[in-house]
Amino acid sequence: MEVVDYHVHSNNSFDGKNSIEEMCRKAIEKNLSEICFTEHFSVDPRDVSYRVLDYEKYFSEIIKAKEKFSDRIRIKCGMEIGEPHLKQYQEDLVKEIENMNLDFIIGSVHNIDGIKLRLYMQNKNKYDIYYDYFSEIYEMVKSSDIDIVGHMDLMKRYAYEAHGNYTFDDYKEIIEKILKEVISRGIGLEINGSGYSNKVGEPYPGKKVLDLYRNLGGEVMTVGSDSHFCESLAIHNIKMINLLKETGFKYIFTYEKRKKIPLKI
Ligand SMILES: [Zn+2]
Ligand SMILES: [Zn+2]
Repeated sequence: MEVVDYHVHSNNSFDGKNSIEEMCRKAIEKNLSEICFTEHFSVDPRDVSYRVLDYEKYFSEIIKAKEKFSDRIRIKCGMEIGEPHLKQYQEDLVKEIENMNLDFIIGSVHNIDGIKLRLYMQNKNKYDIYYDYFSEIYEMVKSSDIDIVGHMDLMKRYAYEAHGNYTFDDYKEIIEKILKEVISRGIGLEINGSGYSNKVGEPYPGKKVLDLYRNLGGEVMTVGSDSHFCESLAIHNIKMINLLKETGFKYIFTYEKRKKIPLKI
């Protein structure tokens, strides 16, 4: 089966360590058939990634990498946009994105009310911390132009140490609202493996969310490592594919100019 990674940051992102060329070389070494770069992007001045991405440079590096490696790997150009639903920035975002000709867009929530999740948690109770995160995700899926929802329950990464993981049943209603909106708008979810590498020990989102999505008729999944350096490319990929198969998914998806391409698993 083909191995693809649909959540990858190079050093074009504020927190990425390796260049696009280094990431591509490692991806080839690891036998990936496709890599999609998803650099951090935000038009919100409160976000750490604001104005960090130099997209002329990013796009020219993608072109160079394609020239060099396209006989060995398919390379795609995407973005991970933070809070793409915020009304006050929507006009700027649409303007910036429209001429970029991207293959793929992840919509992610990294901040609530412009505050980083780790800080947002302070002096709040467990229920509200998780509920507020899911509410923000719900706002995002209702109104933004994205292909998939990034790490849908990422809050557990920050809340785990102080509060533990969330209990699915406590949030089933809002999670179901999110998933129904995802399905009706034709967008998808990612399974993000970075949770396996920290204390949480499971992907974002967890199995119960995936079960519910599948039971509601959801089919569109991408698989991403959320790598910020080349060693972690496609790490946990096999585990995630097996989990998806167990859950009843038949395909994962890749994208070209924002059109879905199914890949049998
Ligand atoms: Zn993210
Ligand atoms: Zn990311």
